[in-house]
Amino acid sequence: MKQINGLAAATGFAKGIVVTAEVKEQSVKRQSLDEIKKECILQTEQLYEKTCLELGEESGKIFKAYLALLEDPCLYESVEEHLKNGRELAEALEHGFEENAAIFDSMKNEYMQQRAEDIRALKKMHLECLNGQKKVFHIPDGDQPYIVAADELTPVDTMKLDQKRLAGLITKFGGATSHVVILAKTLGIPAIIGVKDLEEIHESDIIFLDGEKGVITVCPDEETRIDWENGYQNWMKQKEIMNHLQPGPVYTEDGTQVHISVNIGGSKDIADMDFSSLYGIGLYRTEFLFTDLEKKPDVEAQRKEYQKVFDKVGNKDLIIRTLDIGGDKQISYLDLPKEENPFLGCRGVRLCLKERFLFEEQLEALVRASNGKSFSIMFPMVDVLEEFLEAKQLLKKVCDKLRKEGCVVSRDIKTGIMVETPAAAICIDQFMSNVDFVSIGTNDLTQYIMAADRGNASLNTLQTIYQPAVVRMICHVIQTCQKHNVKVSVCGEAGSDPKYLKLMIGMGLRYVSVSKSLVNQARYSVLQTSVSEMENKVEQVLQASKVAEIRKLI
Ligand code: PEP
Ligand code: MG
Repeated sequence: MKQINGLAAATGFAKGIVVTAEVKEQSVKRQSLDEIKKECILQTEQLYEKTCLELGEESGKIFKAYLALLEDPCLYESVEEHLKNGRELAEALEHGFEENAAIFDSMKNEYMQQRAEDIRALKKMHLECLNGQKKVFHIPDGDQPYIVAADELTPVDTMKLDQKRLAGLITKFGGATSHVVILAKTLGIPAIIGVKDLEEIHESDIIFLDGEKGVITVCPDEETRIDWENGYQNWMKQKEIMNHLQPGPVYTEDGTQVHISVNIGGSKDIADMDFSSLYGIGLYRTEFLFTDLEKKPDVEAQRKEYQKVFDKVGNKDLIIRTLDIGGDKQISYLDLPKEENPFLGCRGVRLCLKERFLFEEQLEALVRASNGKSFSIMFPMVDVLEEFLEAKQLLKKVCDKLRKEGCVVSRDIKTGIMVETPAAAICIDQFMSNVDFVSIGTNDLTQYIMAADRGNASLNTLQTIYQPAVVRMICHVIQTCQKHNVKVSVCGEAGSDPKYLKLMIGMGLRYVSVSKSLVNQARYSVLQTSVSEMENKVEQVLQASKVAEIRKLI
């Protein structure tokens, strides 16, 4: 028996034959940058069509983003510069794309970091085209499930796989937010990343994945096999139950209702959404509207987009987050100053309070779109109370102006903060008499508590919600809000971890917002929770000093 460890990035169990990637030489080689560009655009268009067909439009978005990059002349500026300076095409592509990727690498925001990953994937595509090489996977005939093991997998690679028999994914590189993980979650299969000893796994091996513990086993002994089999059976049973849950609200075993909302990035995400089991939208990330366009959307363009969300949501809860850009999330048309340390720079509400025109325009568009309806506005990256009060004052100014113009403006627009910084979390009591609600952004909160970049896979042991400091801080925020009767929710990834969600319910959490594909999992988790049992566990967890201890306790 051989066991290899990695990071459990997408949960589940799988048994299958290992498929690795092979680079094949092709007879057709492209000679010029123009030829390569054209070929890459063609390939990407085909991948877009295929993905939309097999996985839906949401998953196809990535290739839309690739096409936008490929059609942007800026992508090729450094490559052309290197060519002018006499470098060979291969070298110019390598350096030019790397320089572009490095700019995004340093950025904190997941969306922007994803762009670095995208640029590298496109670099590979260009180089494969130039060298007449193609990455292929020899998927065995028959109906046996297979598991792909590779150093890394780009979206282009993953779309070459037959999704029906794909049982699991293993990679050496890539972070918890990489495409491999997103794909695995979409397909509901396990993914183990950061597998340092990937060389120990060979083509055609039969392996067993435990995507809960992050363990890969080759030739398991009897005890391990039985263990895996039990885990697998439980997981399958859970999947079956999760997919057939009764629609409607969910209650814990001891009768406490927990409200489940969904996180969205735009109106398209809810086009076909069934709201019957949802409390509402717990986080609408509005920045995508700004990052997806080439020039700043004006009030009317924004209003139209927000209006679609208001129309779809009806009377359900709607929490809209104002722009979370700046510092690391550069948007070319905003021409924001470069910062030495963008992770700690002028972003979120800090930027909005500086770029007031931009902020007021967004607030105006939101209020216009609401058309007199009540809804909630949430400000990101609030550090201190003054920031919140200033933002609220600007909203008042916008509302007053619109009322004077004869617009119907609700008197019940709720305002709240995202708790993403240790400062806001430690002093959360100081916000209590001013905010209508609080939403904990556990992704950023973890990164800032641990001073560990959330996109840096090598810091995975520090960058986890299971760190005692993070657990204590989340508990402090939830319980302070509860004491003051202020509605508190969690909209970061912590809500998507079934065990962690149970723990937070034990701390007093009654509202959580997760991505669309994880709604049923969260609902199931609530049904499986006993509040009284979890309340007792919270006491023990808060005393624990190690990640492993906390994981074991819950
Ligand atoms: C968070 O930080 O937890 C969060 C939800 O915001 P984002 O992931 O958009 O930074
Ligand atoms: Mg955040």
